[in-house]
Amino acid sequence: MGKVVFWLAVLGALFLVARAVSLIQRRDAARRRDAEAAPRALEMDRCAHCGVHFPRADAVRSGDSVYCCEEHRRAASQ
Ligand SMILES: [Zn+2]
Repeated sequence: MGKVVFWLAVLGALFLVARAVSLIQRRDAARRRDAEAAPRALEMDRCAHCGVHFPRADAVRSGDSVYCCEEHRRAASQ
């Protein structure tokens, strides 16, 4: 009888350890997913003409300068 109780305890302990490992792996996978899905900070540039800050993806470039729009690039070059 003592052996049965011992093995049941061993099996119970293994079950609890396996469950804890599974929960930790699931939590880590969820954190990785959240980190990948989180929006990145938008990189900003400053218009060389009007000084407004705008997303780098919308920049109009002319040499080393960046502008918020085509009108300001033209205005700065005149
Ligand atoms: Zn501008």
